[in-house]
Amino acid sequence: MLDRVIDSDTHRLLIDGRRVAALSGRTFETLNPATGQVLARVAEAGVEDIDVAVRSARAAFEGPWGQMKASERGALLLRLAELIRRDEAELARLESLDSGKPVSAIARQDLPAVLDTLTYYAGMADKINGQVIPARPDALTYTVREPLGVVGAIIPWNFPLMIGMWKIAPALACGCTVVLKPAELTPLTALKIGDLALEAGFPAGVLNVVPGFGKVAGQALVDHPDVDKVTFTGSPVVGRQILQGAAGNLKRVTLELGGKSANIIFPDGDVDTAVKAAGSGIFFNTGQVCSAGSRILVHESIHDAVVERLAARAQSIRVGDPLETSTAMGPLVSEAQMNRVLNYIEIGRNEGASVITGGARHGSAGYFVEPTVFAGVHHDMRISQEEIFGPVAVVIPFKDDEDALRIANGTVYSLAAGVWTGDIGRAHRFTKRLKAGTVWVNTYGPTDIRLPWGGARDSGFGREHGEAAIDNFTEPKVIWINTGR
Ligand code: NAP
Ligand code: MG
Repeated sequence: MLDRVIDSDTHRLLIDGRRVAALSGRTFETLNPATGQVLARVAEAGVEDIDVAVRSARAAFEGPWGQMKASERGALLLRLAELIRRDEAELARLESLDSGKPVSAIARQDLPAVLDTLTYYAGMADKINGQVIPARPDALTYTVREPLGVVGAIIPWNFPLMIGMWKIAPALACGCTVVLKPAELTPLTALKIGDLALEAGFPAGVLNVVPGFGKVAGQALVDHPDVDKVTFTGSPVVGRQILQGAAGNLKRVTLELGGKSANIIFPDGDVDTAVKAAGSGIFFNTGQVCSAGSRILVHESIHDAVVERLAARAQSIRVGDPLETSTAMGPLVSEAQMNRVLNYIEIGRNEGASVITGGARHGSAGYFVEPTVFAGVHHDMRISQEEIFGPVAVVIPFKDDEDALRIANGTVYSLAAGVWTGDIGRAHRFTKRLKAGTVWVNTYGPTDIRLPWGGARDSGFGREHGEAAIDNFTEPKVIWINTGR
C-alpha cells in the first residue's frame, strides 16, 4: 500500500525556537515519490524569512549559545541523539515517505550514521583546543579556536537526514549557529530534527530550519551579509552559483558536489564479491548517491562474465513500496529526476551502447525506473561522462593498468573510486594515481564520520567529517601578550 499520507496538513518554518508561517503566507507541496501523491503542504521561506532566521541565529550566537560551556554543547548533542533514537521509527517513515528511500535502508544505514555523527561530534565539542606557540622570547603567543558564527547549510534530497547531520552536528559542536535549508523535495525530516533539538534544550535560534526553493531561500542565505559560512551539498551548477553569491561578504564555502566514480575490477581479485559490491555501488539509494560507482571498469578478460552476473543481480533487486521492509530499491525522488534518468537511457541507446537489462520505467504509478545495465560503452559517451544520478550502470572494458587509470581519471569529477585486485602492489599504485577524495580497495561505498570526505574539480572542494569539519566551522585567533624581556 503506497497511499499512506501524513496527518498534519501544514509544516511551518522553524525560526527562533518557534514554528511560524512564511511571512508571505506561501506554502508548497511535497510529494510521496512512490505514489506521486501530495504528502504535505510546507511553509515556503522567502527572502524575508531567511533574514529573520539569520538574525535569530546571530542573536543566539552572540547570546546564550556563545556563553555556554563547550561540554554543555556536547551534552545537548547527546540528548538530541537520544531523542532521535526514541523517534527512530517515525523519522524513518517520514524520510521514506518524503524521499522514496526504502525504510529498511534508512534504519540500517542513514539513522545509524546520523547517531554516529552526533555522538562523534558531541565528544569533540570540548576538545577543540588552541595551541601555545612560543614564537618570541618577549611574548606569550598562543591561539584559540573560535567558532565562525552563523552557518548557512544547504542540503540535497538524496540523504536528507544524514547529510543534514553531517553539517549540523560539527557546526553546533564548534559553537556556531545554523540556518538549515533542506531540499524542497524532502523538507519534512529536517523540520522534525529542528523540533527534537528544541525538545533537547537547544536555545532558540541555534538551529533554524527554513524549507523553500533553492533559487529564493537558498540564494537568500548565500547572499545574506550576516552569514559567515555556507556549507553546501548538491550539484556543480548550483555550487558555482554559491561561490558567486558568497563573494559578496567573502563567506567561507565548503562544496560537496557530484561524481561519476569508477569501480575497477581486475581478474586477480575476488570477482564474485566485486560484482556484488558493484551492484550495490550503483543501485543503492536508486543510484542517487554522489559517490555511486556508476562506471564499472572491467578487465577485458572477464568483461562478458561480469556483465552477465551484474545483469542477473540487477534483475534480482526488489523494486517497490519503500515502506515494505523487503524492498531494496525505491523510486527516484521526483518525476523530473525519473525523466532525467529515462532521457539518459535514451541518450545511451542513441550513442550506440546496449541495454543489457532494465532500461524502462517500472510500473506506472510513482517514479520508479528499472535497475539498468549498459554494456558496449565507450569512455567518451555522455552516459560515461555525465552524472545520471539514477540506477544506471555503465560497464566499460579496459586492457591494462594504464588504460584503466586513463578511463577512471577521465571525467571532470574527482570524488571517489574503487579498485578490486589481489595484487598488493597494484592496489597501492592505484590508490596513488586515482584522482579521488576517497579510494576504496576491495570494497565499495562505505563512509565513516571519522574520515575526511570530499572531492576536487567538479566534485567541489573542502572536506567534511572528522577533524576537517572542526576546521570548517572554527578559525584560529592569535593572542600576543607582550611580556618584555
Ligand atoms: P541541487 O539542485 O544543487 O540542490 C541542492 C540544494 O541547493 C537544494 O537544497 C536546492 O534547493 C539548493 N539550491 C538550488 N539552487 C540554489 C541556489 N541558487 N542557491 C542556493 N541554493 C540552491 O542538487 P540536487 O539536485 O538537490 O542534488 C543532486 C546533486 O547533489 C547531485 O549532483 C549529487 O552528486 C550531489 N550530491 C553530492 C554529495 C556529496 O557529498 N558530494 C552528496 C549528495 C548529493 P531546491 O531543492 O529547492 O532546488
Ligand atoms: Mg517529497
